[in-house]
Amino acid sequence: MTPVLAVRNAAKTYPGGVQALRDVSLSVSPGELLAIVGPSGSGKSTLLHLMGTLDIPTSGRVEIRGHDVARLNDRRLSALRSRWIGFVFQQFFLTEGLSAVDNVATGLLYAGVSARRRRQIALGALEQVGLGGRAWHLPSEMSGGERQRVAIARAVVNRPAIVLADEPTGNLDSTTGSGILSLLYQLNAAGTTIVVITHDNDIAAAMPRRIEMRDGMLRLDTGVAA
Ligand code: ADP
Repeated sequence: MTPVLAVRNAAKTYPGGVQALRDVSLSVSPGELLAIVGPSGSGKSTLLHLMGTLDIPTSGRVEIRGHDVARLNDRRLSALRSRWIGFVFQQFFLTEGLSAVDNVATGLLYAGVSARRRRQIALGALEQVGLGGRAWHLPSEMSGGERQRVAIARAVVNRPAIVLADEPTGNLDSTTGSGILSLLYQLNAAGTTIVVITHDNDIAAAMPRRIEMRDGMLRLDTGVAA
């Protein structure tokens, strides 16, 4: 089966000379749920950024559904990214002046869809994350867990095949965090491939596959034998 996402011998050196990744290879099959763990500075976010085509490797390749992303021009790359990948970050990144439903609607792809229809679709995504009743609230009126749910609704509003989450529970207390985690599990059960960076070893240990980073290298991949 073609991997939904593959990183092949990727290295990343930042300007200034930091070698954030050295020869990292991994391949993710459709429907997987995997955790990336490792100490701060080990290259987890850099790897997730490459997987999400937000950045390019210094050498090596990243493939989304078999397409080498380096061969796509900017327009095609951003189309592929918006169509196939949803992002969730620790800091939520919601727009403060917009209601929850309008924040989610900013993630919607298609141009030419009426504002009313966009809100309907966004509302559907908010219902999916259990926030249908809070759709008209501003982020400033919501708790951290609710904001993260809005961010997840925005990430999945186009029904992407892949969701990449960078410490999605990092700013939340453990009860709220486990709610967010169950949501990711639900999405995965419905077929979405999910990659999540976490510093929480218990969260990682419970996931079907774990990748451990150390000094820019992949130290362990429990999915490799599969
Ligand atoms: P982690 O997510 O595991 O904390 P990162 O991928 O954020 O690790 O960082 C890996 C290394 O790359 C660190 O040494 C970090 O300081 C460096 N780094 C990350 N982003 C940049 C950047 N934009 N410019 C320069 N160095 C960076």
